Amino acid sequence: MKFHFPRSPKPPEISESDWNNWTWQLRHSLKTQEDFESVFALSADEKAAFQGGKELFNIRTTPYYASLAQDGGSSIRQILMPHKFEIEEGSQQMLDPLGEKRNNPAPRIIHRYSDRALFLVTDICSVYCRFCTRKHFTGQEQAFIKNEEYEKALAYIKSHPGIREVILSGGDPLTISDAQLDRVLSDLRRIDHVEIIRIGSRMPVVCPMRVTDDLVKILKKNKPVFLMSHFNHPNELTAEAAEALEKFVDNGVPVMNQMVLLNGINNHPALIQALNRRLLYLRVKPYYMFQCDPSMGTDHLRTSIEDSLEIQKELWGHLSGLAMPNLSVDIPNGGGKTYLVPNFETKQEGRVRHYLGWDGVEAQYVSPAPEKIKKPDISGFEKEWSDLKNSKR
Ligand SMILES: *Cc1c(COP(=O)(O)O)cnc(C)c1O
Ligand code: SF4
Repeated sequence: MKFHFPRSPKPPEISESDWNNWTWQLRHSLKTQEDFESVFALSADEKAAFQGGKELFNIRTTPYYASLAQDGGSSIRQILMPHKFEIEEGSQQMLDPLGEKRNNPAPRIIHRYSDRALFLVTDICSVYCRFCTRKHFTGQEQAFIKNEEYEKALAYIKSHPGIREVILSGGDPLTISDAQLDRVLSDLRRIDHVEIIRIGSRMPVVCPMRVTDDLVKILKKNKPVFLMSHFNHPNELTAEAAEALEKFVDNGVPVMNQMVLLNGINNHPALIQALNRRLLYLRVKPYYMFQCDPSMGTDHLRTSIEDSLEIQKELWGHLSGLAMPNLSVDIPNGGGKTYLVPNFETKQEGRVRHYLGWDGVEAQYVSPAPEKIKKPDISGFEKEWSDLKNSKR
């Protein structure tokens, strides 16, 4: 192995078979201050956060993920541990920063882009990340979608032939049982127009033992299924996580990683390159690097857009394009995603654009005259194209 992925520090009193069993991990989740105190020496600020009451976003972690967060100042600790800053006023705090309630045409469906829709199959996660963007829904522990809502959600997808892709999200879709997941995937596969299924999950990070042979068999059977993982820090890449990622890929499930830049946690190019090179080595494609959404209680966890651009610019040219995630911000109020890219263009004069490249090369790109631009023959693809253009939300 090119990189060293250390095994998680399992407490000696817990057996290997318990520790490596995902249902044991979920059943033994830490939720209360007492639970946390059995594992962590809490600071005064952390203790104050546990007294946050109703206003505070739900608290939960697996023992596995907690074991990676033992060192007091560690990045992982800040991801799972509530802090009193969460209940203080910040500069921009929105319960629903992505305006999802406006794009919610059926229960548990968020349909923002015409060709793809989110299906929130559960609101439960095995770890409640303090930066979560969906605090308006996540963590109310309503569990797996009720039958009646499930049928309505499925009917919505069926009646919208423009939906080519269904993204299972939540909550964390991999907290549901294999049988439930198989049912959802098979029901979606029976819909003719659904081409791609994505599963967005943090389980490979917070409970990699969830990735069993039975699970990947279900995903393989319902192919093509893409797994969107959510690693934010190189220290989350343990031997267990690496094995889980390789199991997906070895079984024909492509894995893409979506990360979020977090203030004082991972906002340094040294960490971003370390994380993404390791992921790439494990055949995981770094996909998005998100600006943290302004959801409630996340002010202290957010970086500035300037800081994010600076990190990306420092990596540009040094880091393989395969390892480079797309820096992106979700425009608040449901504006959708937009890429943030370094601007290497210095000037435009008619057909001539002037550039200053990442390591200082100055040059021009001269476009052909507009009258020379012609469109190719699209015969055989006209209907597919007009269907896509005309698909409606
Ligand atoms: C991010 C997002 C998607 C997926 O967008 P991609 O750019 O295709 O990854 C789909 N629907 C909603 C509501 C989203 O927020
Ligand atoms: S796993 Fe995702 S949905 Fe769940 S708390 Fe973390 S960010 Fe939110």
